[in-house]
Amino acid sequence: MSKVLVIADHDHGVLKKLTLNTVAFAGHYAEKTAGSFDIAVIGHGVAGVAQAVTSYGAAAVHLVDHPDLAHPLAGPWAKVIADLATAIGADVVCMSASSIGKDVLPRVAVRLQAGMASDVVEIVTTSEGLAFRRPMWAGNLMGDVIISSPTKVVSVRSAAFDAVALGAGSSPIVASSAHPDAAGARVHFVSFDGTASSRPDLAEASVVVSGGRGLKDRFNSVMEPLADILGAAIGASRAAVDDGYAPNDYQVGQTGKVVAPQLYFAVAISGAVQHLAGMKNSKVIVAINKNADEPIFKVADYGLVADAFVAVPELVSKIKLLRA
Ligand SMILES: Cc1cc2nc3c(=O)[nH]c(=O)nc-3n(C[C@H](O)[C@H](O)[C@H](O)COP(=O)(O)OP(=O)(O)OC[C@H]3O[C@@H](n4cnc5c(N)ncnc54)[C@H](O)[C@@H]3O)c2cc1C
Repeated sequence: MSKVLVIADHDHGVLKKLTLNTVAFAGHYAEKTAGSFDIAVIGHGVAGVAQAVTSYGAAAVHLVDHPDLAHPLAGPWAKVIADLATAIGADVVCMSASSIGKDVLPRVAVRLQAGMASDVVEIVTTSEGLAFRRPMWAGNLMGDVIISSPTKVVSVRSAAFDAVALGAGSSPIVASSAHPDAAGARVHFVSFDGTASSRPDLAEASVVVSGGRGLKDRFNSVMEPLADILGAAIGASRAAVDDGYAPNDYQVGQTGKVVAPQLYFAVAISGAVQHLAGMKNSKVIVAINKNADEPIFKVADYGLVADAFVAVPELVSKIKLLRA
């Protein structure tokens, strides 16, 4: 019987949907091992988040509330996660492969002397036991990783697991005594320079419209009206980011964000393997590119060979007309 500990993703007290994908992973693992899962909510003033995750099937929700945990600094978070995992006897600790998960989990693994699998997309049964399937070489290979240490740490690729639906039950909330080591802190929070946007979060949006280098300095004037009409988040290729046409946090791909929305637009993006690694699991892919030979058309469900500067404004005005 296993005990899985899910670390909730939240943004200063607002639950992130990614948590529900990680809970789906934990539910699958618990089911395959006749075990159960708990959820940990870490932060300060986050009782509302703990309350919000009580109806997803967890055996318990652990609330670790401390002023020194208000910001997700990897050091103090890793300490309380490792302490809590030890206290409850968790044999799997997991979190989404978000920027926070990527920062915190390796430190948790070190503290627990645990093996770790990153970006896990599936749990598979092999002749040697359960394995964690994860993409390697920018998604060109899938590897099945068997972790031999008694405790295992897993970062979960959210896009690969459908979010769990709200259930009827109510998990008990347990105040945890795990606490950060203030005296041993080597890093202190100074400030957070966030981007305020009315658009959906790129990692969670159901529609993403991404632009590439081909849009040049007209990136915003082409992509923003399309995003506005579709209620979409905006993404970009790395080349568009590197050339300064789009901000860094828009990047989709191997070294950017991994998304799997219902609808993904790739506008003036060639479809390099490193870009595909971040979006090829999208449900419907639309490509607009003036060169019919580009690899993006191999993964697209709908392809339009056209000049984006003409096609995108036309598409936007047609959608407006249809809606009027
Ligand atoms: C280690 C590593 C990691 C990487 N990580 C990432 C990553 O995370 N994400 C990522 O995206 N890339 C990544 N890359 C870079 C990747 O290899 C490509 O260079 C990049 O994706 C290309 O971006 P692009 O398609 O916008 O540009 P290009 O390849 O230059 O393509 C531009 C496209 O625009 C089209 N175009 C031009 N003008 C128009 C027009 N008017 N209308 C319509 N179409 C037009 C062209 O036909 C072309 O297809 C990585 C590379 C490496 C080596």
